[in-house]
Amino acid sequence: MIDKTRAGSRASVRSIDPADLPEGEITVRVDYSSLNYKDALAITGRGPVVRRFPMIPGIDLAGEILASDDPVHRPGDQVIANGWGLGEEHWGGLSQMARVHGKWLLPRPRGFSARQCMGIGTAGYTAMLCVMALEKGGVTPGDGDIVVTGAGGGVGGIAIALLARLGYRVVAVTGRDSLTDYLRGLGAAEVVGRSALTYTPRPLQSARWSGAIDVAGGKVLAALCASMRPGGVVAACGLAAGMDLPLTVAPFILRGITLRGIDSVMCPREQRMAAWARLERDLDPALVDSICAEITLKQAITTSPQLLAGNIRGRIVVNTREG
Ligand code: NDP
Repeated sequence: MIDKTRAGSRASVRSIDPADLPEGEITVRVDYSSLNYKDALAITGRGPVVRRFPMIPGIDLAGEILASDDPVHRPGDQVIANGWGLGEEHWGGLSQMARVHGKWLLPRPRGFSARQCMGIGTAGYTAMLCVMALEKGGVTPGDGDIVVTGAGGGVGGIAIALLARLGYRVVAVTGRDSLTDYLRGLGAAEVVGRSALTYTPRPLQSARWSGAIDVAGGKVLAALCASMRPGGVVAACGLAAGMDLPLTVAPFILRGITLRGIDSVMCPREQRMAAWARLERDLDPALVDSICAEITLKQAITTSPQLLAGNIRGRIVVNTREG
């Protein structure tokens, strides 16, 4: 639970009466949640994620329906939810129970356990939305290299695995040399340091990438756009390096590149269903297990600063049954 304090906010684990859960047609027993970048911003109070206090964080949840006033969903159904304001304006998934709206829930994909769904979580589902954006933009494996930033994190790691499985040649960008073997194991053909994407005020740099998936924003995204090949597509989903975008129109009007923004939170239901179906098809559950660490609700508080510091590799699932 995140409470507002004079100094900002404070997160703690505590018991609440289920009657205090917010409005919603459906009560879910949450078995697993996950720790995303946005959850870490909310828990530490380092980003303006929480819109109402007190707030239970957690933008993801997987579990079983305990009670339902929605004809579409029945008690006993295994479900997942990502985004829709969970953990931002509606009490979220880092809890043993949640009350939510039926339209937010998807049936749990058959190919994954609840734990694996949270191992994928918003990060992995966003990675799939990014891959689909490249495909929609016409980028094919034969076109050339695809660059993925934040490779050591959740979105980056799953994006690498998906692209490699689909036959793309992936160049992983990381700030951590120590992750080279791990990233090659996920499918990266090449692993480069962040200095490979140096920002310069020049409108264009030499054309290198056919596609890009970027979690960083700021000068990293600007450098990427300036170094895309003609007709290249950039899927931008994050701001780990900053909110600004010091860019000119040159890459758009001289190379015809496309910059596609990715929003997982309010993504329409049909696109979510399509993304999860593609994850079932294109992502090996064993790979998901291999990139996940499991923590407890209490550890979600202590792990959040580590995640924001970029010290976490892959994904973190939260076992809500553990104290
Ligand atoms: P993680 O914390 O798992 O990974 C982020 C990674 O970014 C780090 O591990 C690090 O990788 C890299 N990184 C950190 N700081 C910088 C920097 N200054 N410059 C370049 N790279 C940096 O987070 P997620 O993968 O879960 O999320 C990544 C971003 O995507 C976040 O900004 C998040 O808010 C956003 N996001 C957006 C969504 C949307 O709907 N638009 C949905 C999900 C996430 P390395 O050490 O390997 O360089």
